Amino acid sequence: MEERKFCQCCGMPLDKPEDAGTEADGSSSGDYCRYCYQNGAFTAPDATMEDEIALNLKFNEENGFPLGTREEAERMMRSWFPTLKRWREA
Ligand SMILES: [Zn+2]
Repeated sequence: MEERKFCQCCGMPLDKPEDAGTEADGSSSGDYCRYCYQNGAFTAPDATMEDEIALNLKFNEENGFPLGTREEAERMMRSWFPTLKRWREA
C-alpha cells in the first residue's frame, strides 16, 4: 500500500498528479506541490518554516479549521514540519 504523500515544503496533500510541482525537465516532483516548486526550483526560495506554518494557520482559519483549533493546528505543525524534507536541515 502506498503512503499518502504530502508536499515536503508546505504539507499540502499530494493526492492528485496535477498537484505535484515540476522538475526542470518538466517531469513531476515526487516531493513538492505546484505552489512550492516549479521547473526544478522553489517558488519562494527565501521562505522559512515559520512562514509556511503561518500560511497554514491562515489557511486553517479561512477554511473553517479543518486542521483543528489554532492551538491544535500549530502544535501539530510544529512537531511535523521539522520532519519535512525542506526543513529537516534548517
Ligand atoms: Zn507545497
